[in-house]
Amino acid sequence: MNEFYARERLAEVCKLLYDRNLTVSAGGNMSVRINEGEILITPSGRNKGMLEPEDMVKLNLDGEVLSEGRPSIEHRFHLALYRMNPETNAVVHCHPLNCTALAVRNEGLRCNITPEGVLLLGKVPMVPYSTPGSEELVDAVAECGWAKAMIMARHGALTQGRTLEEAYNRMEELEFQARLQLLVGNVEDLPADEIAKLEGM
Ligand SMILES: [Zn+2]
Repeated sequence: MNEFYARERLAEVCKLLYDRNLTVSAGGNMSVRINEGEILITPSGRNKGMLEPEDMVKLNLDGEVLSEGRPSIEHRFHLALYRMNPETNAVVHCHPLNCTALAVRNEGLRCNITPEGVLLLGKVPMVPYSTPGSEELVDAVAECGWAKAMIMARHGALTQGRTLEEAYNRMEELEFQARLQLLVGNVEDLPADEIAKLEGM
């Protein structure tokens, strides 16, 4: 993807996440792949509603900084996902309130209570807690790297996608499903044959 265009799209997605209350203040970090070996990621410590295209930091997949600015402290788990998943072109990590409520309770997200959950998210693992920015957290996220979406214990949520729009949509859906789960309480999953049918779609 053209770097200029990628910078604009990433700033747009950050603003959308912020405006939709999917992240607050400087929380979270978002990235997009611009070619096989390079990504753009949000800078460290900045409010996600106020980022400009030129604020995004360019890194190669070895973590070398190739532009102005200081990358997010969590850039290493982004890099791990890009290295292990060639089809991943965008990663969104943030702290949406309802996902974070489940994360603090260490209560797994149930993706099988509506068709959209099955179709857009699939199985959502819980990443065990490690200190933000640590090598242990990078390893824990990589262990769940097969998933479209993850809840991170005591921390927040993460999604990946083939495009920024797909990663964004998965985060919006994840937060919706978390909210729904907290509202409906102990409801049954969709019937097993219906889940199987949806999974085959
Ligand atoms: Zn975080």
